[in-house]
Amino acid sequence: MTHVVTEPCIKCKFTDCVAVCPVDCFHEGTNMLVIDPDECIDCGACVDECPVSAIYPEEDLPEKWQHFLDLNTQYAAEWPVISQTQDPLDTAEEYREVEKKEELFEPTPGKGDD
Ligand code: SF4
Ligand code: SF4
Repeated sequence: MTHVVTEPCIKCKFTDCVAVCPVDCFHEGTNMLVIDPDECIDCGACVDECPVSAIYPEEDLPEKWQHFLDLNTQYAAEWPVISQTQDPLDTAEEYREVEKKEELFEPTPGKGDD
C-alpha cells in the first residue's frame, strides 16, 4: 500500500508534506508533487500537513481520484526527489479552492532539491 497525492495539489504545491516524510518519497513536477509507492512506508505523517487535503491512503482514495495512483507511480519514476519545503507556487492561493483543475496538470519535472 501507499499514500497518493491527488488533484488539489495541482498549481498549489505548498510542500508542507515533504518536511515530515521520513523516507523522502515525494517527487516534484512543475505544478504538483507525487509519492513513490515503492518507497512510502504508510506512516501517514504527511496527510494532516497538506493545507488542501490532497493526500490519501491508497485504500481511502475517492472514486473520482483512483487514477491518481497510476499518475503518482508513473511520475515518481520520472521526477526528482524533493525533501525540503519550498515557497508555494504563486498560483497557490488562487487555486486552492478550485475543484476541477486536472486539465492544468503539467507532466514536466520540477527542480527537486537544489
Ligand atoms: S502539502 Fe499538499 S498541496 Fe502541498 S505539495 Fe504536499 S500534497 Fe501538494
Ligand atoms: S505516508 Fe509517510 S512515508 Fe508515505 S509519503 Fe506520507 S510521510 Fe512519506
